[in-house]
Amino acid sequence: MVVKTRFAPSPTGYLHVGGARTALFSWLYAKHCGGQFVLRIEDTDRERSTQPAIDAIIESMQWLNLAWDEGPYYQTKRFDRYREVIDKLLAEGKAYKCYCSKERLEKMREEQMAHGLKPRYDGHCRDSHEEHSPDEPYVVRFKNPTEGTVAFDDMVKGHIEFSNSELDDFIIQRSDGTPTYNFCVVVDDADMGITHVIRGDDHVNNTPRQINLYKALGAPVPVFCHVAMILGDDGTKLSKRHGAVSVMQYREDGYLPQALVNYLVRLGWSHGDQEIFSVPEMIEYFSLDAISKSASSFNTKKLDWLNAHYMKTLPIEEVAAELAWHLERLQADLKAGPDPKLVVKAYAERTHTLKEMAAKALCYYQDFASYDPAGVKKWIKEGSVDVLKAALEILTAAPAWEAQPLDEALSDLAKRLEIGMGKVGQPLRLALTGTATSPGIGDTLVLCGRERSLQRIAAAIAYFSA
Ligand code: GLU
Repeated sequence: MVVKTRFAPSPTGYLHVGGARTALFSWLYAKHCGGQFVLRIEDTDRERSTQPAIDAIIESMQWLNLAWDEGPYYQTKRFDRYREVIDKLLAEGKAYKCYCSKERLEKMREEQMAHGLKPRYDGHCRDSHEEHSPDEPYVVRFKNPTEGTVAFDDMVKGHIEFSNSELDDFIIQRSDGTPTYNFCVVVDDADMGITHVIRGDDHVNNTPRQINLYKALGAPVPVFCHVAMILGDDGTKLSKRHGAVSVMQYREDGYLPQALVNYLVRLGWSHGDQEIFSVPEMIEYFSLDAISKSASSFNTKKLDWLNAHYMKTLPIEEVAAELAWHLERLQADLKAGPDPKLVVKAYAERTHTLKEMAAKALCYYQDFASYDPAGVKKWIKEGSVDVLKAALEILTAAPAWEAQPLDEALSDLAKRLEIGMGKVGQPLRLALTGTATSPGIGDTLVLCGRERSLQRIAAAIAYFSA
């Protein structure tokens, strides 16, 4: 059997971390088994589904590097197929048209509630032989078995059993002719040959209805794996209140996709006490039975820690590619400054996120607006301009624009002037970057480039002399 999993988001908003974790688990399981992963956009709710949400889902999946083998499929493009299946179920007597009015259903509901019963359709039209005119509105209901139980062995939750008497004849086609979620999901999973349904545990209660439908269609029932939800660090359901929840917000905040993926895989899954996983390791070790039964809490500190780890340890090109995205968002012209790889090399240990790194490195690509007043107050003293002048002279004559010889030349200058290196380096940093914090002065000069460095030092001399 070829394992086939899917991620089936409803495009009603951005992709949040809970959805991304479900997608990751589904993807990992398919890859672990040498199987296939399908992306399906469940956009039948036309009121709430939007194109920007679809774009955000696709962009997030691509950013996280969760490549799908099939799709994206769109449910709205499969309406003919759904109609075909509904007609078949009607013809086979496995579904029926229900003409009950809103008023009748409402009254029934109120009476059931008044008697302390769970509201459910009473099957009024199930065996009715009433005649109806062709223009009378109706919904189509699935004939759920009335007896026995429906059971499944969930890979996370264990054995789950529902009595059919608790389930009613649910609607599979609305009065406007559109099919409903519980119906489409089964037709799709059956048609697409999905063997393992990995999804959030908010769908546990839909599963018995769906299983009855699989059986009615004569389709094999997949394995179900319902993953517990993600809580915020205060133990309540993760929401915007806890900070970023959308995947693309994490990108904007400067996290690496590798860090977020590593963070998400550990959110409800473990392999011994290992915390850091390369993608090939995740694929190798991933198993459904190691998914935790209990909800997991989001811990931003741990994500920060992973991000710092990956900023320092990933191949530099990968970090630089992500940094370039941030620089471009800040309108930097990448051709007007250093190779982003050099920035990563100089800043990986000094910054926590790529957003911070890009903000700090922007001065190597375009002019900065002003000198940091606190830095000026602290470091521009009497004599600083003379130091800058002496440094400019040495740097203008420097034979090679490389960090080490530049560092050495400036350290010789400090010795010659009998002042500490800070008194040379800090005014220079202010001149070069507008701030008194930057990597080693040699690295800073290299990042700035020869021409821009010399110009900026000259400009600072003019500015601080005035
Ligand atoms: N479209 C559903 C949702 O976004 C998921 C359906 C499923 O995974 O079965 O919640």
